[in-house]
Amino acid sequence: MSTTMTGSKGKTKSANNGAPGAPIVGGKILAEVGLPPDPDNLYTQTVGTMLHAAEVMNLPDYLKLILAQPKNEIMVHFPVKMDNGEFRLVKGYRVQHNNALGPYKGGLRFHPDVHLDDVKSLAFLMTMKCSLVGVPYGGGKGGIKVDPRKHSKAEMERIVRRFTSAIAHNIGPDYDIPAPDVGSNSQHMAWIADTYAFLSEVGGRDASAVITGKPVEFGGSLGREKATGQGVVDTLVEMLPELKLKPEKSTFSVLGFGNVGSWSGRIFQDKGAKMTAVADHTGFIINEKGIDAADLAAHVNAKGGVAGYAKASKCSKEDFYKTKVDVFIPAALEQMIQEPEAEMVNCKVVAEGANAPTTPGGERVLQSRGIEVLPAILCNAGGVTVSYFEWVQNKTFKSWDLATVDRELNKHMVQAAGKTRAARKKYNCDLRTASYIAALERLQHAYEVRGIFP
Ligand code: GLU
Repeated sequence: MSTTMTGSKGKTKSANNGAPGAPIVGGKILAEVGLPPDPDNLYTQTVGTMLHAAEVMNLPDYLKLILAQPKNEIMVHFPVKMDNGEFRLVKGYRVQHNNALGPYKGGLRFHPDVHLDDVKSLAFLMTMKCSLVGVPYGGGKGGIKVDPRKHSKAEMERIVRRFTSAIAHNIGPDYDIPAPDVGSNSQHMAWIADTYAFLSEVGGRDASAVITGKPVEFGGSLGREKATGQGVVDTLVEMLPELKLKPEKSTFSVLGFGNVGSWSGRIFQDKGAKMTAVADHTGFIINEKGIDAADLAAHVNAKGGVAGYAKASKCSKEDFYKTKVDVFIPAALEQMIQEPEAEMVNCKVVAEGANAPTTPGGERVLQSRGIEVLPAILCNAGGVTVSYFEWVQNKTFKSWDLATVDRELNKHMVQAAGKTRAARKKYNCDLRTASYIAALERLQHAYEVRGIFP
């Protein structure tokens, strides 16, 4: 267990940790819970955004304190035998931020740079997201410090199963329910469910609800794989008209073409929108006439990235960001839209498909340029919402058809967008602050009726 605050990636030069243009927010709270007021630290930035919203809505101090740190931070180290017979010591995390609204819920990130601060931030964001989108969950997140691209399938299986055994006592179908995130997929979820079932000796009870994002053949839900992208597009369809944009006439660019980026692209394209520029870790591509998202997804599947895609031209990072589009969808990692990127983007709306892609400094620039940001806790909440549907299906031994999943997801997204709009109107604030206020209101009501033990 540790609250060390070092090593956030993607350093920013922001002068505050909260709302754009504001001085450091909540210094007193940060000090009391032992967080350094480091404006570049992702966790400090994330908590700062919450503290700003808390101030606008006048949230009681005790709730700010509770939410400023996770309940539990679990770090594990475990040995795994590689294919060549050598052993590696692997590091894993599970952070349980809050469970006032229900069991801890959130994905597992498999990435070589994964760090405690990232996991804490992402766990915190899950608390906010689950509250906003109206599912009965708290927030958690975990990860393994590993590069899945550098391991064989057999090595990954041993890493994932051993990690599961290391955290098995800290998760459970009614306590903490992991899911996929960057770098992890449905096969990994199947290994986790299988290992957990084996270890937990639940004697006939079905343990598959311990994790979501499983393959459909093993308790997964139809529509879960595309769910985050579907939620991004549901949010766009709901929010664009009031920003005077027509979804079916929009052009868009995408940063990151993994699960979230590629499904957002495919589904937005199906609505009539045109994708003209895409970037990922392998390069930047552009085609003003349009890039077919399904065709590009097939290329990425085969080649591992957008580089080399023949039906678009390779371009520079600058050209990518400066491409004029209506909507820009960052769908890669956090802290990627800092001041320089925010100066370059040439769009009317940023739809945050990734978690925390925009730094406070980047957001300040976007706001000063009149660019609207659809915040991540709203925009990318589709994944956890369909995870909730998967969990409900597991617990009730039912399977929903795709039309039901899509319809129910849309209901949650439309309601969350409505709550965000209402908070913006009431407090006359930006959409990110409004989405946090809507999330905090639900948590506040839960704490008011639950009280604090003892
Ligand atoms: N990792 C996804 C997220 O950040 C999904 C979490 C889940 O389904 O529990 O929202």
